Amino acid sequence: MSLIMTIRVETETLEGALFDVDLTKSGKGRIRPEIYESNQPVARGNSRAYNARLIQFINDFQNRMGVSGDLIAIALIHPGIVDSKQGVAVNSRFEIWNEPVANTITEAFSTQAFVFHDAPCLALGEVRYGANGSASVNTPDGRPKTPKNFVYVIVDEGVGGCIFIEGRPYAGASLNAGDLGHILLDDHGPLCRACDRPGCLETYTGRYWIAEDILARYRRLRETKSASIQDSPFSRRLSFLEPDNVTVEDIASGTREGNDYVVPAIEQAADRLGMGLAYALDYLNPEVVILGGALMTKVDLYYELAMRATQRRCLPIAWESTAFRRAGLDHAEHYGAMDLALTRIRAELGRSHRQSTA
Ligand SMILES: [Zn+2]
Repeated sequence: MSLIMTIRVETETLEGALFDVDLTKSGKGRIRPEIYESNQPVARGNSRAYNARLIQFINDFQNRMGVSGDLIAIALIHPGIVDSKQGVAVNSRFEIWNEPVANTITEAFSTQAFVFHDAPCLALGEVRYGANGSASVNTPDGRPKTPKNFVYVIVDEGVGGCIFIEGRPYAGASLNAGDLGHILLDDHGPLCRACDRPGCLETYTGRYWIAEDILARYRRLRETKSASIQDSPFSRRLSFLEPDNVTVEDIASGTREGNDYVVPAIEQAADRLGMGLAYALDYLNPEVVILGGALMTKVDLYYELAMRATQRRCLPIAWESTAFRRAGLDHAEHYGAMDLALTRIRAELGRSHRQSTA
């Protein structure tokens, strides 16, 4: 058995996982149960400190798991824009640019290293390793198969995603293909904090913007007919909150209570999300759309209304031929990163085998 280590690089945490893989067969890798997490994240704005922290984390994880010579690859799961062919973190919220991080890890640990964007890792993990093949599609003869053409959309603080064509991530010329959150819906909409343009999909559907809408509706309602405001733990907290402090759990509990300022905000967000998803369906015609991110996995009403809004807007034939799934696999991004690394390693082995026998 050989081992692949995967590391999720986030602004608040670093999280590592280990997988047993068999290079001689075409099968899937198996996760080892222990996940290693550290609340000490990588440094911002300083590439030396960023690299040093990553190397320290990998060392700690190796020591803790007693990993010796079996480690064949390390795969980083990275936010922002990533050039996974070159192993470079191009641009991210860590305020470092064009960082050849895969090379740095290879030199430090004498093993292959990869860096992948987080969205395709989440998508592939969900599709290939999700519970009961939940992302499978039925073939004409009625047997389920893993889809090759699919779209993954994350709806959370940010709204983004990725596209897989013929089983491979399609990153596009500027490496941001599939980033559905920043398509423009309204020239006169609010200014996006991420892309700096007005009225993109994220400004109607991301957590911050929904929170802002909820607070505005709450204040209006309180001024006009305060007696009708439902008394709940959430409404008691609301008067003290800023949009940045309203959590996904707050929004979920507000919809379950049927709050008359939370539900209309979710209805509006779902309507706009349906608009974006209908564009994706009509234009790309994927076999499967997977919806992930905490707002989709935890707020049932948001997911259900977004489905209805999508169906209302897209071509009937596109709606009927596309399956929708909600993400549900724990550590999906680790499974996906391991799988992407395994594919690259096997392809490399196949190439060198063909060269040696030619
Ligand atoms: Zn934007």
